Amino acid sequence: MSSENHELTDSDIKEFLEMAPLYSWSVFKKPRINRSSLWVREVDAYCDVCEQMRPFQDMRPRGGGAGMAVKTLESGTSYFEFSCVSCRKSHRVYLVEQVLDEDFIRIQKFGELPRAKLNRDRDLQRFLKDDLDNYEKAIVCLSHEYGIAAFAYFRRIVENNIYRLLELVQEDAQASEADSADLEAIDELRKESPMGDKIKVANRALPEYLKPDGLNPLGRLYQALSQGVHSLSEEECLTKANEISVCLAFLVSELATRKAHREKFKKMVSKL
Ligand SMILES: [Zn+2]
Repeated sequence: MSSENHELTDSDIKEFLEMAPLYSWSVFKKPRINRSSLWVREVDAYCDVCEQMRPFQDMRPRGGGAGMAVKTLESGTSYFEFSCVSCRKSHRVYLVEQVLDEDFIRIQKFGELPRAKLNRDRDLQRFLKDDLDNYEKAIVCLSHEYGIAAFAYFRRIVENNIYRLLELVQEDAQASEADSADLEAIDELRKESPMGDKIKVANRALPEYLKPDGLNPLGRLYQALSQGVHSLSEEECLTKANEISVCLAFLVSELATRKAHREKFKKMVSKL
């Protein structure tokens, strides 16, 4: 989220309020045009009353007025309060600390209401039903941006479940009559071999329809397995943990959807 090479804008503040975990600092260049506060008009959030994403706006009457001296933004704390534009019944409150120096502005959230929900993936939860404890810990670490811990848990999850994932890929490839080279490569991955070889094989083991724009999620997972936590910085670990989370979620949900579609189709055609 931090971006020390660009000036803080309203859309940065909006994204920060929506996404940043508590107590994690974001750093921006101080805007050249002096803003008097961090105030922004709107954030997007899930409304529990409307049961969908809605814009939330600051509906408090604004103070100030003619003749008041324009304040400049100083180090201190800021209070944000937004209400859903549709129902006006659900609200979002954020507390933010800002620290300014000559060139930079650093901000961290130190309060948020209601409590942010952790972003769990339903398909992954189902797939990892025997490993939910590790998944839960991985998600908590990710939400606090504890990169090293998140990476360690996600890596363990991949280790524990990679063979089940390969089975799903194989099942799907067989049903879809994928290239025999794909099937052979998946078979090869299930045998003992050095990790370096596995990454190469994994990179060609997926049918094209599981590689959006040529990006191979299985290859990425094997790459993550080959790397130790000790060799990476906190930030690199966080990136890797996010990558594993996204690749796993994509593969598992894609395979589950394809399987459901196949079964539905078979059922309907067999009735004809
Ligand atoms: Zn609403």
